[in-house]
Amino acid sequence: MEKDRAPFSQEGERPVCAVCPSLLLPGGAFDVVAKPSRDCPFDPVSGNRYTAAGVPVCVHPERVGLPPAPYATDHLVLPWEAPPPGDAGEVREWLRAALTAAPPDAFAGVIAQASQILRASDPNLDVTAALRSALG
Ligand SMILES: [Zn+2]
Repeated sequence: MEKDRAPFSQEGERPVCAVCPSLLLPGGAFDVVAKPSRDCPFDPVSGNRYTAAGVPVCVHPERVGLPPAPYATDHLVLPWEAPPPGDAGEVREWLRAALTAAPPDAFAGVIAQASQILRASDPNLDVTAALRSALG
């Protein structure tokens, strides 16, 4: 299985739903909604919920770490895939949002991008301390 197509779920890292599309699908291949509703009825055969268009839905955003959004339906960019801001002042917020949502194998790339922007903004900056404070 290719790395970028790995299931999104981080079992052992996060208490994902017992049955959840994130266990089988990579981020972006399912939608996330705030709570179960008639818009995404439960399918007893698979145990998942689906939109009317058949897109799998996770109903526990706090468990998968992704804010509710129609990622698959609208082909949205995932938080950790969004390009980082060029402004160092906004990097901390971007970093926090990206790392909250990112699967572990995306962490290194996110941190590298943030480090680069912070270092470019101030060559004397203690990047490690800045990253820690952003995540603190
Ligand atoms: Zn879920």
